[in-house]
Amino acid sequence: MSSLVHAALTIRKTARASFGFVAAAAFTGLMLLGVFRVDPQELGVEHGAVGLAWLVIFAVRVARRVRDREDSSEGRWLDLELGVLLLIGAHAGVQIAGGLSSFVYPIVYVLVAFLASFARRPMGTTLVLVAIALEAALTALTEARADWRQLSLHAVFILLFGALNVVFTRAEIARVRERSKKALDEEKEKVRDESRLFRLVGAASGSANANPEEKVYRSSLEQVHDALYHVLELLRSTLDLHTCVLLMKDDESGRLRIVELATDSEDVAEGPFDPGEGAVGAIASRGLVMRLENLKPGYKGLCYYAGGATVKSFLGVPVEEGGQIRGALCADRVGGEPFTLKDEGVLARAVAQVMRAIENERVFVQLERSKREQAYLHRASTALGAALTEGEVIDAALTAAADLAPYDFAAISLYDPETRKHTVRKAVGENADKLEKLTFRDNTSLTAMAVKNRHYLPYRGEFDPKQQVVYTKRAKLAGMRSLLILPLIVREDAIGTLALAARRPNAWGQAARPTLSVLANQLAVAMSNAQAVRRLEEMATTDGLTGCLNKRAFMEELARKLTSAARFGRPLSLLVTDIDHFKMVNDTYGHDVGDVVIKELGAILLREKRDTDIVARFGGEEFCVLCEETDTQGAVILAERIREVVADTVYSTELGKLSVKCSIGVATFPDDAKSPEELFKVTDQALYAAKRGGRNQVCTSSVAA
Ligand code: GH3
Ligand code: MG
Ligand code: MG
Repeated sequence: MSSLVHAALTIRKTARASFGFVAAAAFTGLMLLGVFRVDPQELGVEHGAVGLAWLVIFAVRVARRVRDREDSSEGRWLDLELGVLLLIGAHAGVQIAGGLSSFVYPIVYVLVAFLASFARRPMGTTLVLVAIALEAALTALTEARADWRQLSLHAVFILLFGALNVVFTRAEIARVRERSKKALDEEKEKVRDESRLFRLVGAASGSANANPEEKVYRSSLEQVHDALYHVLELLRSTLDLHTCVLLMKDDESGRLRIVELATDSEDVAEGPFDPGEGAVGAIASRGLVMRLENLKPGYKGLCYYAGGATVKSFLGVPVEEGGQIRGALCADRVGGEPFTLKDEGVLARAVAQVMRAIENERVFVQLERSKREQAYLHRASTALGAALTEGEVIDAALTAAADLAPYDFAAISLYDPETRKHTVRKAVGENADKLEKLTFRDNTSLTAMAVKNRHYLPYRGEFDPKQQVVYTKRAKLAGMRSLLILPLIVREDAIGTLALAARRPNAWGQAARPTLSVLANQLAVAMSNAQAVRRLEEMATTDGLTGCLNKRAFMEELARKLTSAARFGRPLSLLVTDIDHFKMVNDTYGHDVGDVVIKELGAILLREKRDTDIVARFGGEEFCVLCEETDTQGAVILAERIREVVADTVYSTELGKLSVKCSIGVATFPDDAKSPEELFKVTDQALYAAKRGGRNQVCTSSVAA
């Protein structure tokens, strides 16, 4: 029933979706019949009716196309439909105007060019082919004398128009895209440059390329420019200046750049300028105050004028910060009035004002950054606090590190002081898979040193993967230029490291390290807590001497496995082993030797069992083995193997060689027992039977009975 409904719906949908094609086919039929080969004077009502029908259908489909904006497959079919309708419309016009050789024919070329560019792929190409096919049909059926030469010529032009338009449109789109990308890049570069100029980035954290940080820079730069512009405008109007300009040195290139400008001149150069150039250079490089009078027209000493100065007098004072010359504040006048000492004082005070504005923004940026870092750290500590297992702790830490300091590679290694080995527990980023689970000795690597010295490495954060070994000589972090290995310190000891690496240089400066160290400390505490929890869990479920499960954990497992064995109708066998005359071993060789024997028995059982079997020490020298999906026969084979291996094992003691034997009882669910208690009772009876039967043997419940 539902498939019928589905089919009906599909048919309805298809019909609704493609009525434009049906109409197009009908119009084509009419045209091929020569309905439109009429003189314009002879056009009648029937032509009007067809034209109206075309218009309505076309309008409905256009409306649909406007609604359907996304690039769906239906949208592409709509493009084809509209394209075909347009081609038919155009040809109808051509027919009325006198056929394929009429003067209005070029309208078809224009239409093809339009369709080839704007129809969604691959319908543009399809429409070009449709145009040729349509024309071929019209040539054959409607022309008095089929002109095949004309057809081939038209076809070549149609192809040409289609292809050229696609090429041009694509090229134009690519150009526009390229241009807007370039504009965006330039804008970003400008923000970066200016932030550097004002040293807003001086104390940047690792997240210099993070988005929120850029927003802060942007708004800070606006603030600085606002403040600067006001100061310069004020100077210009009160001191009657032609130009008032602030130039500052770029720390990286050392060149002077115009930071802010208030001027009447239209001849200001863009810069940057050489720091040694002319009067401005003398101020900015040597810290001199320059007062010049009676300048000649075209004077070249003022670098900020492109074609030589037209001013008569000039005053420039150095911009200093922390004893370092950062730039120059310059003023000039067109009128002959020279600058006075008082003007110099005003300019000097203006410089102080300018520097205060910059310093304010610097503090603001730093505050914003620490606010954000605190929020990240808060989030990190919440996530780390909530993480219970070592895996969860590691994941939370790597996520938090990515927030605080974007990296290209990060890894967490742990150190085991007992085996004196480091293990990379998790690595993310480039080449991470090669490093994960890497284990290495206490070597001279940066990781081992960071753990040993409990200090981050390398000291300066710079990294040369060819010279410095992060983990082992073989495990390389190729292409990375910044590295930071932070030790994970708990109380006095380093339990491992958090390593971050980035392709960009100077990724983690002085300002970022304290924050990352805090993260490393939180990670260390969370990690050691998770380790403690794991150890507690192990202690609660395993036997300290042998590493086998303890009785409580075994009983839980037994209950679980018994339930599933019952549900799936599978057998489940229990083995109980007991060493023969063990009291005598203790009495003769001492309790310590007894312990060694018990420990070895545990190891033998763990070795001999299958993966799905579980082994537990039940106290004393008694062990249990639970075998899933194993009947009595299979269990006896395992028990015999165990018995033999135990008997063959020789211990060297102070009193000479020692070997022990053991007896084993076997019982199987559901044949011998239905409940755990019963299963134990029956197995014990089998064991008792083995002891009674002379020891060093395996007994099943059937023998016991
Ligand atoms: P049987 O052949 O009948 O089993 O004789 P047995 O001497 O082995 O008797 P039983 O199994 O009853 O004796 C268990 C002895 O195991 C008692 C105790 O001295 C010793 N024992 C129990 N726990 C430990 C332990 O943790 N270490 C050592 N060394 N001995 C233990
Ligand atoms: Mg015993
Ligand atoms: Mg015993």
